[in-house]
Amino acid sequence: MNITVVEVQAWLDDFAKKIEDNKDYLSLLDTPIGDGDHGNNMSRGMTEYKKSIEDKQPNTISDTFKILAMALISKVGGASGPLYGTAFMNMTKATVGIDVISSYEELSKVIEQGQIGISTRGKADFGDKTMLDVWIPVVSSIKDENFNDEIIENAKNATKDLVAKKGRASYVGERAIGHIDPGATSSSYLFETLLNYI
Ligand code: ADP
Ligand code: MG
Ligand code: MG
Repeated sequence: MNITVVEVQAWLDDFAKKIEDNKDYLSLLDTPIGDGDHGNNMSRGMTEYKKSIEDKQPNTISDTFKILAMALISKVGGASGPLYGTAFMNMTKATVGIDVISSYEELSKVIEQGQIGISTRGKADFGDKTMLDVWIPVVSSIKDENFNDEIIENAKNATKDLVAKKGRASYVGERAIGHIDPGATSSSYLFETLLNYI
């Protein structure tokens, strides 16, 4: 593993593209259990990220995460903006002075700080049908060095049968059952695209 600022920016470009390509789908997932805007929210944030990267041309991993955090916090109105924003702000702090992430152990520490940010800010637990249902198993699988597509896909799909305990989906109670969580889906894109650089 040799993840430098080049790989981090390539990863986040891939993530932005994946969000753009699936914008309508993410908003569709958010329609029966939310307010139908998750794809549009994420797309607005990632468009701002691309613009800001172009303007500022950061040359460290930490500064790259900071630009992403600021873009998401400033442009995404929904719950997902501050939650992803806090994750990437924690990852900004976790990578200060780091030029290369070269092991699963190092990577797990960075992603875990992101997950802790989401947990602290949103106060959700595993199984509450949120993006954390993807972040938590991903952190464990990186620690265990068995991080792969299947783990990400299964974690995302497992949100389908759950009642939500946090966020707008909690307002619909049992009617959330049968619908995959939109934030878990956008998080699955984040980690699927990361796999390309490991
Ligand atoms: P909003 O619900 O404000 O419209 P979005 O639609 O952009 O915001 O994001 C919804 C997603 O945010 C949900 O699918 C869920 O994954 C995530 N989410 C909501 N509340 C929480 C929370 N407290 N902790 C973690 N994730 C959450
Ligand atoms: Mg929404
Ligand atoms: Mg909304």
